Amino acid sequence: MQRCPACNARLGAATLCPRCGAELKQIILSERVAEQWLSVSLQSTGGGRMNVAVPAVLRSLSFKQTPAAKLLRGFLVQRLYRTLYVTVAEQCWPEALDTLGYLRMLEGQNETLRRFDEMIGHLSVESAVNSSSD
Ligand SMILES: [Zn+2]
Repeated sequence: MQRCPACNARLGAATLCPRCGAELKQIILSERVAEQWLSVSLQSTGGGRMNVAVPAVLRSLSFKQTPAAKLLRGFLVQRLYRTLYVTVAEQCWPEALDTLGYLRMLEGQNETLRRFDEMIGHLSVESAVNSSSD
């Protein structure tokens, strides 16, 4: 943190603002925790572990809405949509449903996700019927 959020005074390492006396320990702690979760999310994203990356970025954002964490959330959403199209095209239903779940965590339920859910429901039943009749 560079400046006091209350009075905008420059801050050193102190957790008490030297100008207005605001107690900043809690804020500084939140920022640190937000940074730690962001780094967990970044590492998991690099390793393709969405089951960790998605909740970690949400946790980071819950402590502080930093531009970096918002950027990562946007990146994850884009990447997950790409995965969703690929998994549907390849008929990997369990993976498609997992991806849909991560997107729902990041964006909340919306019309697009609801339609995908429906489509995957139909197609996976169809492919199960087709493969059992082989
Ligand atoms: Zn201050």
